Amino acid sequence: MKKPVLISLFNQKCPRCREGKFFKYSALHIRFDEHLESCSHCGLKYEGEPGFFQGSLYINYAINVAMIITLFTALKLTFDPALHIYYIIIIGFILSLMTFIYRFAKICFMYLFSGVKYDEKLSS
Ligand SMILES: [Zn+2]
Repeated sequence: MKKPVLISLFNQKCPRCREGKFFKYSALHIRFDEHLESCSHCGLKYEGEPGFFQGSLYINYAINVAMIITLFTALKLTFDPALHIYYIIIIGFILSLMTFIYRFAKICFMYLFSGVKYDEKLSS
């Protein structure tokens, strides 16, 4: 049965088999950004070339900017607080989600730009 790409993306699974884990540790671990060398299920090597995942920083930046604009607009339309309150809320929000956003950007980059296609035969 074909596994939906969005569910695999949010569960941070291998882009080829959508079964194996991508990251070594949880998002709350100090080494939250380390990923496995290869998929434990299908053996796909995740980092095809050195520095491949540096491009994920662009996705990370875009997600953060989108969140800042959304949060700023929501605050402006609802409470319209003083300027320093904007800074405190937005920076606190971004910092608290930093590890999750970075990991999501990295796995998005892997799905979009690695050139790996889903192989239904590899998933159980
Ligand atoms: Zn795999």
